Amino acid sequence: MSRTILLIEDNEQNRYLATFLLERHGYKVVSAPDGPSGIELARTLMPDLILLDIQLPLMDGYAVARSLRGIELLRNTPMIAVTSYAMVGDREKSLASGCNGYIEKPINPETFVNEIERFLPVPASRQGTP
Ligand code: MN
Repeated sequence: MSRTILLIEDNEQNRYLATFLLERHGYKVVSAPDGPSGIELARTLMPDLILLDIQLPLMDGYAVARSLRGIELLRNTPMIAVTSYAMVGDREKSLASGCNGYIEKPINPETFVNEIERFLPVPASRQGTP
């Protein structure tokens, strides 16, 4: 069964690129253009991982991260912030709001999927194989 990644991102080009790269590696990608719809999708979808843009309309990514972490069933879901803010303290703010990691934009097609996979638990079917 392919694993599902929820992508919360308002920029269409970034959504397109991230979805393209992840689907090419066999992931199912579901996306939302803002925090409230992303939170709603996360509740119903129970994704294996959430990619979260920080600059979003309606709610910023930090607020979205805190809301998602408040949902019992999503407490342990890996969540990665994706942001173009290259500001000091941004990583700390992402982590403090509940994200497990942080990827900087622009998305690097060479490394993007690898960076994300560091946060995905190894599937049970692959555990223990040499
Ligand atoms: Mn954005």
